[in-house]
Amino acid sequence: MNHKEPLLVLENVSKVFATASGPLTILEQVSFSVNKGEKVAIIGPSGSGKSTLLSLIGLLDTPTTGQITIGETKTELLNDVEKAKVRNQTIGFIFQSFELIAPFTALENITAPVEIGGRMIDQDHLDRLISTLGLEKRREAMPRTLSGGEKQRVAIGRALLPTPALILADEPTGSLDRATGEKVLNLLLEAVSQVEATLLIITHDESIADRMDRVFELRDKTLHERS
Ligand code: ADP
Ligand code: MG
Repeated sequence: MNHKEPLLVLENVSKVFATASGPLTILEQVSFSVNKGEKVAIIGPSGSGKSTLLSLIGLLDTPTTGQITIGETKTELLNDVEKAKVRNQTIGFIFQSFELIAPFTALENITAPVEIGGRMIDQDHLDRLISTLGLEKRREAMPRTLSGGEKQRVAIGRALLPTPALILADEPTGSLDRATGEKVLNLLLEAVSQVEATLLIITHDESIADRMDRVFELRDKTLHERS
């Protein structure tokens, strides 16, 4: 794997929301680039625009100005159907609140995006992922019967089964206690390395940021890389 090859490039990305009291600028001229296989943290105070930035990168929302390139794809040229396809095949999402599908078993939650994408499930990869995440005995469990840590391990499996090039994690341990959060983070890092994905993780937690290859701070509406 060529680690010098950029997987994600943002050029002068800005986001302005229209609000009742007028335009509200959340992100201004954000430019940065992440190489294949890198693990990057974005840290910043509550309300600084971290989740907004992640939803732009995840093609869930559109920048007001600027360009986002994922791999070879200039995303501003895509229509909604093409964006959905890139999301399904290239990007794995992990949220603070897990977002599992309640009437689906743990296993069904993990396989849902691959099934929705109409692709074959790689059974070896699925078994390895379930074993890495320690979910062998919880395959048939319903989400409401899972602990917080187990729910997030299922969500990690769901994000990683399609072997996406880019994993976007928005405070993935934010609703777990410290010990559970640390275990879940270790499993996430192990699973990400297994599929050689690139990881962008949003966090409040300096000890999580310290474990990534690079750290950016979101402040004054833009990103500042820590040296
Ligand atoms: P963070 O994830 O860093 O806590 P967010 O990206 O969620 O911050 O939000 C940044 C700011 O943008 C907040 O002040 C929030 O209220 C505002 N915001 C987010 N989405 C919208 C929206 N759709 N319309 C207006 N303001 C928004
Ligand atoms: Mg947020």
